[in-house]
Amino acid sequence: MAIRNIVKHGDEVLTKKCRVVEKFDDRLNTLIEDLFDTLYDSGGAGLAAPQVGVMRRVAVVDIGDGPYELVNPEIIAVEGEQTGAEGCLSYPGKFGIVTRPMKVKIKAQDRHGEWHEYEGEELLARAFCHETDHLDGNMFMDLVTEWIEVEDED
Ligand code: ZN
Repeated sequence: MAIRNIVKHGDEVLTKKCRVVEKFDDRLNTLIEDLFDTLYDSGGAGLAAPQVGVMRRVAVVDIGDGPYELVNPEIIAVEGEQTGAEGCLSYPGKFGIVTRPMKVKIKAQDRHGEWHEYEGEELLARAFCHETDHLDGNMFMDLVTEWIEVEDED
């Protein structure tokens, strides 16, 4: 287990599509553990593999109600709409207003290849959308309708 460096906005790996995971092996296990370690170290709500430079369809989410490991995730249903602040660990200190579905149903495999379905509302729905977008090379900035001014804390 290790904390990996988070790739920042401007790096081209963040704009590329990730490959489907086909091998559920030790490397995948290590990647998922490292993503969680890096996420918890950074205090974010989710982290996708391309954000640590690994071009595979893997992401982790934890908004405080427990960990979700998402391998080959696919959003299968959306409902409603929410508009609120969103940020990204690859774009530190920047927050913008983004409209997302209020409810999202997602299917994903775990590290063993088992399929699961999860339902998320509000922040969890937002995190599922944000992380799945990363795997297609899409960043939240493209969806921002208005940037939020954040006071410089240092
Ligand atoms: Zn992000």
